[in-house]
Amino acid sequence: MKALRYYDRGHIQLDDVPEPEVGPGELKVEIEWCGICGSDIHEYLGGPISVPVGAPHPYTGVQAPVTLGHEVSAVITEVGEGVDGFDTGERVTVEALLRDDECAQCQAGNHNMCSNLHVYGYSWPGGGGFARYSVIPAYATHKIPASVAPECAALVEPLAVGLHALKQAGFQAGQDALVLGGGPIGLMVTVGLKAAGARTIVVSEPSARRREAAVRAGADRAVDPVSEDLDAALAEVTGGKADVVFEVAGVPASWKSAMSSVRPHGTVCNVAAWEAPVSFNPNHLLFTEARLTGSLGYLGEFADAIALLSDGGLDPSWMVTRTVDLDHAVEDGFDAIVKDRDEFIKVLVRP
Ligand SMILES: [Zn+2]
Repeated sequence: MKALRYYDRGHIQLDDVPEPEVGPGELKVEIEWCGICGSDIHEYLGGPISVPVGAPHPYTGVQAPVTLGHEVSAVITEVGEGVDGFDTGERVTVEALLRDDECAQCQAGNHNMCSNLHVYGYSWPGGGGFARYSVIPAYATHKIPASVAPECAALVEPLAVGLHALKQAGFQAGQDALVLGGGPIGLMVTVGLKAAGARTIVVSEPSARRREAAVRAGADRAVDPVSEDLDAALAEVTGGKADVVFEVAGVPASWKSAMSSVRPHGTVCNVAAWEAPVSFNPNHLLFTEARLTGSLGYLGEFADAIALLSDGGLDPSWMVTRTVDLDHAVEDGFDAIVKDRDEFIKVLVRP
């Protein structure tokens, strides 16, 4: 079968590889859709970050070339030994953050902080989502109800990231929220805030296309931080500042806004992965008694995300702005996004 594999920075290619074989505790799946994540683009342009290149992953032994892709909608084709509760033909998705279930962090329930963290589509031996078949661990697999479209199933993973950020920020219904950055994760945070009953949501985002998307996702106001006064816009909408601020942009200007936009006793939650350190005056925390926290991936929010898409009636499939076949995933997917990132929200690959 064909698989889109990562070799090193700037080097991904379609290879012919053998189909992966299902092992104990695993499921073999046929991939229906797999989203291109911002992390995949990061890995392509600025990596290697998560793919072990030149040396094996200390826990899984995997090293490049590896099959990329972790935002999947898939159908079970084979059930491995010792797996209960799953059948062939069932539609599923899988958590990308994988664990050893043994270390102190796992024992404490902090699976996203596992000392042997490994990632589906980066450092997992069963292949990734940019291939027709893949093998996934049953413990991290979630069933998708028939009421959820396959395209939406591929959005469960990024939606779970957004929902975890709300939890980490301690968000409560009725609060005023500011989201800095309107990329796919910023939009998932926005969708989550809307569903969870935010009083007001302001999104700060320089791209006009993404500002439009932010309003569609539920923002009361989408502000261009380059040409508009964010503080003034926030004051107009909230009557002051924000109770919770989500930093999803990862650039120094937005960090500054995060610090100046939070209310006394509010919370700033960093969701972004940064390419460089940023300068920071702790007096911002002194004079506001604000809390500063972070959010990595998810911890139990897959079930919440799936419930929102099925019982909650949430349909974020409008975020899919392009679909491509695996044969054209490099040119029309990765390279197209690199050339004009603002043009796309979510690109799905069909293997
Ligand atoms: Zn662990």
